Amino acid sequence: MPARLSFHADATQGGSRRLLAAVEVQGPFPSGRLDLSFPRWIPGSYTLRDPVQYVDGIEATDESGQPLSWQRPDPHRLRVKVPKDAKHVRVQHEVMALEMTVRSTHLDDGHLHLMPPFTWYLPDNADWSSGADIHLHLPDHWAPFTQLHAKGTPTKGTHVFDAPDRDAFLDGIIEANAGPHRTWDVDGRPHVLNIWDSAGLPVSSAMIDRFVDDATKIIKEHHALFGVPTLDPYVTVLHLTDKMRGGLEHLGSQTSMMPRASMIDGEKALYRDLISLFSHEYLHQWNVKRLRPKVYLDYDLSKEVPSPLLWWFEGGTSWLGDLICLRSGAWTQEDWNEEFNLKVNRHLNRHGASHESLVESSESAWVHLYKRTAWSSERRINYYLEGEFAMMALDVELRRRTRGSRGLDDVMVEALRRHAVGSDDPGVDHRRLRQALTSMEGGRRLGGMLDELMTTRKAPPLEAILSNLGFELVAKDGGEDHDGWLGLGLQRRQGKVVVTTHLEGSPLRNHVDAGDEVVAINDRRITEVKHVKQALSECAGREVQVLTAREGGLRTCNVEALPAVDHRKMKIDGKGNVLWRRITASRQQDA
Ligand SMILES: [Zn+2]
Repeated sequence: MPARLSFHADATQGGSRRLLAAVEVQGPFPSGRLDLSFPRWIPGSYTLRDPVQYVDGIEATDESGQPLSWQRPDPHRLRVKVPKDAKHVRVQHEVMALEMTVRSTHLDDGHLHLMPPFTWYLPDNADWSSGADIHLHLPDHWAPFTQLHAKGTPTKGTHVFDAPDRDAFLDGIIEANAGPHRTWDVDGRPHVLNIWDSAGLPVSSAMIDRFVDDATKIIKEHHALFGVPTLDPYVTVLHLTDKMRGGLEHLGSQTSMMPRASMIDGEKALYRDLISLFSHEYLHQWNVKRLRPKVYLDYDLSKEVPSPLLWWFEGGTSWLGDLICLRSGAWTQEDWNEEFNLKVNRHLNRHGASHESLVESSESAWVHLYKRTAWSSERRINYYLEGEFAMMALDVELRRRTRGSRGLDDVMVEALRRHAVGSDDPGVDHRRLRQALTSMEGGRRLGGMLDELMTTRKAPPLEAILSNLGFELVAKDGGEDHDGWLGLGLQRRQGKVVVTTHLEGSPLRNHVDAGDEVVAINDRRITEVKHVKQALSECAGREVQVLTAREGGLRTCNVEALPAVDHRKMKIDGKGNVLWRRITASRQQDA
């Protein structure tokens, strides 16, 4: 049996923001050296983040504490020179744990969020068959929350966890803090909720109760579809922040980050978003973690690893995640409509769909999705959003062909039955997902539709899909019929109204750039975003003069303002038909 790897972290100096980290590797070292690499990306977040940028103070020693010399063959790798008779090597460093996101290691005097691939060098060619121990030294009053199993009881503030293999190690985030937590069972599986507030502010315990109630409904609905996957605890780490939002999935846990106002009674839209995020990350236990692209069965974290299927995994999770909120009763139909309206308007304001397919968008996530520019909304799609509409199109078509009895959730269950991680034939690619779809009752002829949705530079016909469900899109009220429209995304920055993007069909597309200040329209000074709408009153179809500033100079142009009535925000209308009621019926009765 090869020796277990051993990883260490000391989080007791949170005020310094430095996490002390070390990896210990047992010999022998017949080559006279030990090579290690720092991961360049984090599973679930498909871009090179190079967390090694936060590493400092590297030291290598042997079993008697004698320093060993080391080099960096490149910025991500370490090569330690090791005497052939050395028994054991320890490589220690500090992580400047400043980055507060769901995917990074973050430490302060109130908490630790430890992301293994953001923390440690990994020995190259290591034998992981015996697994790894993780030794974590914490302040006395902090409790750890993790999907990893604890080994024994903590001694002198050091907790030890077991990662049975490399995948479990990379996926095994650990949150530690003194914040509120709850533990409860759903269908026999323990669920743990831990909340950390980024400013140390108190969290309403009535709102925690409400969240636990709604989460329980959602969990039961997931179980009705997929079954209870394991009796190991599921851990929800919730970070409440000033403004930041995000989520990251793990096999038995999630880190979700929401503005803290989402847990203030009465902030309906934010709370709805929190519930949606929880359901989305919960669903990833199956659609990403258990059903996984083949190329991610054994993550190569040293370089970009593109997959053409990210749209399936994110779009499908968003589509089904929100349906489950509705099916479970955690959401009303009105909640679902409100959330859908936000997505529809984001979709209608972007025009990347005629320039990029879902496959192109998935494969280029590494350079596009997480690196937005002013032109992203014109030339790129977001595969979460457009993938969701594609999944909706497929789901509705399958339901239509089977009078509602089969849907994409059944396809997901079938794909899991065939290709889940841990099965004889794990991992999926386009062909395997296509087979799961076409083997489904009603799905035999849908392979071509799947191919087309994935590969063509065209959005699915949203109005037709909605009409199959007994809905239509209608304009939201607001504004007068004769208002003018210039089609700019605007933001107020330091007292200036600045262009952030062009909306589809903007008459100013070739005259104004993102970053330009809008100074005046028809001689009316613009210092607030609402001034633009006021200046365009009664301007539909008329020429307007727009004064902008760029690079310290003024520019004037005259364009015809379009009728705002043609560019109103849209909303879903109607009660939904029998097909919609079949799609949104709880599956808990037939479980
Ligand atoms: Zn996701």
